[in-house]
Amino acid sequence: MAKLIVYLIQAFICLTVISSTSRLLSKREEDFLEQFGYLSPKKDGEERSNEELRQGLLSFQKYFYLEETGNMTDETSALMAKPRCGSPDKEINKLSRYLSTGYKWTGTSLTYNYLNYSSDLTENETRQTIENALKIWSDVTPLEFTEVSEDGDIKILFQGGDHGDDYPFDGPFGVLAHAFYPTGSVLAGDAHFDEDEDFTINGEIGIDLFQVAAHEFGHSLGLDHSTNETALMYPYYTGYIADFELSQDDIDGIQSIYGMFS
Ligand SMILES: [Zn+2]
Ligand SMILES: [Zn+2]
Repeated sequence: MAKLIVYLIQAFICLTVISSTSRLLSKREEDFLEQFGYLSPKKDGEERSNEELRQGLLSFQKYFYLEETGNMTDETSALMAKPRCGSPDKEINKLSRYLSTGYKWTGTSLTYNYLNYSSDLTENETRQTIENALKIWSDVTPLEFTEVSEDGDIKILFQGGDHGDDYPFDGPFGVLAHAFYPTGSVLAGDAHFDEDEDFTINGEIGIDLFQVAAHEFGHSLGLDHSTNETALMYPYYTGYIADFELSQDDIDGIQSIYGMFS
């Protein structure tokens, strides 16, 4: 009998070993970590080891000040499921929280134009909202924004799914929008909004266009994500905020690139 128990225990240990070599993360979770910069791009045909996945998950947990377990926790999967910006998260700036991309516009007079408009709002509502979203940045810097009919520095597009770049949108929720850093490419500065979202204004139910656009223009101007939860440049969507104001973290970030309002 004693021997049987030993065998049973051994069998149990074997099973435990087998189950621990199964994949640490689902394909979806792995793709998420790669998309947002927590796993380096996969080499062709190679599977990532569980250790690589664990490290990726740990950096995600560290970035968002979650408990660093290296395993999926409820807290981790809940955060992954929340609507957010499509730009990847970069390293943590421990001194402040904001992070500058190192890219900037050389002049202070910038232009923007619409490639199309959101069907969720009237043209006027969209234009007013975009103007307000740019204004929060021009209010604290020497930057000025002028709307032009074509070929602006910042081109604004509302389109779902594939929309002509390498970063197709994913339907409602998930990624809400993304924008490109200043200079260096034909898309530089451009801001793309996932038209599969229901964009609204003034706190109506849906995705607040002002909040999303103001965040994306931070990228258009050269800011990366901030780990400060109160910052506009935090990667996750925080919803409509009445009488919105930039946090000091955002102001410090943008002024570190363009200087103060003069
Ligand atoms: Zn972003
Ligand atoms: Zn795009």
